[in-house]
Amino acid sequence: IMLGMDGFDVLLPASLDEAVAMAADDPPGVEGAGTAWLAGGTDLLPNLKHRLLRPRRLVALGDVLPSGWHREGDAWVIGAGTRLADLARMAALPELARAASLVAGPQVRAMGTLGGNVLLDTRCRFYNRTPEWRAALGGCLKAEGDWCHVTGGPRTCVATRSGDTVPVLLALGARARLLGPAGPRELPLADLYRFDGRRHLALEPGEVLSHLVVPAPPPDHVGSYDKLRLRRAIDFPLLGVAVALRREGRGEDARVVDLTVVVGAVNPRPAPVRGLEPFRGRRLDADLAAEVAEVVRRRTRPVAALAGDPAWRRRMAGVFVRRALLRLRDA
Ligand code: SF4
Repeated sequence: IMLGMDGFDVLLPASLDEAVAMAADDPPGVEGAGTAWLAGGTDLLPNLKHRLLRPRRLVALGDVLPSGWHREGDAWVIGAGTRLADLARMAALPELARAASLVAGPQVRAMGTLGGNVLLDTRCRFYNRTPEWRAALGGCLKAEGDWCHVTGGPRTCVATRSGDTVPVLLALGARARLLGPAGPRELPLADLYRFDGRRHLALEPGEVLSHLVVPAPPPDHVGSYDKLRLRRAIDFPLLGVAVALRREGRGEDARVVDLTVVVGAVNPRPAPVRGLEPFRGRRLDADLAAEVAEVVRRRTRPVAALAGDPAWRRRMAGVFVRRALLRLRDA
């Protein structure tokens, strides 16, 4: 099917401040009316074609969004406009580079930005469809309806956060730097996300994400990102598992100093897996890796908003963590 788009105006600001001013009088609406930000467009344009939002205006951020990265004290500051293909070459944060390298395919990574990946609209197999397909089902809470086909109820939308870079950024303790009509502000990235697939971002009207601020990992840090997907060549994650490990020693003698695991693509708001503190100080052997994997498996409850059996995705969360720990132990 050829999918067209409704008409809209495209505004070309000369600076990020001007972009915010342009959006301030007609900010993005809950139902996707008003103004929408356009960065790489790799998620926005398909969504426009699917009539998932109907903005009157797009503010094109391509020329004004900061890109690249630099050091500010103990942190790496990465521009939200950094193309994923460039981020995939960031040697200072290899697990973030790896996550970026696994997003979609080469064309999308050449256009898509870090900011777009972090703010990606939540996804669901009952939502990311043509208007005709959705209408045949009677719509759903996130679009044109009053029922969730995943939870089987009228209240909660659990459409899934699918940005590959998000679990890694959360595991590294990243912060989001925003610019809005009231000026700049910074908040923990974790606080940007809500457990609501519809209103999933805690952004004020007219706010734009300008940078991600990532604490530089300590020397004893090693990290990883593993992605489960149906098609290896190009696909959203069915599961994205980030591990941040601080370890003392290597190989058979390695001990856990600290451990953070974040599993993405399971619900609208990824967060570090709780209950891993007891593993601190223990020897990182195969038994410990299996124990951690079991905790992660138990605490990971993928919703059925994505394809793939949730029980299989849950089991794979544990498998990925066990493999990652044994790999990182020897890294
Ligand atoms: Fe719609 Fe439910 Fe999917 Fe949300 S989780 S997009 S309400 S079907």
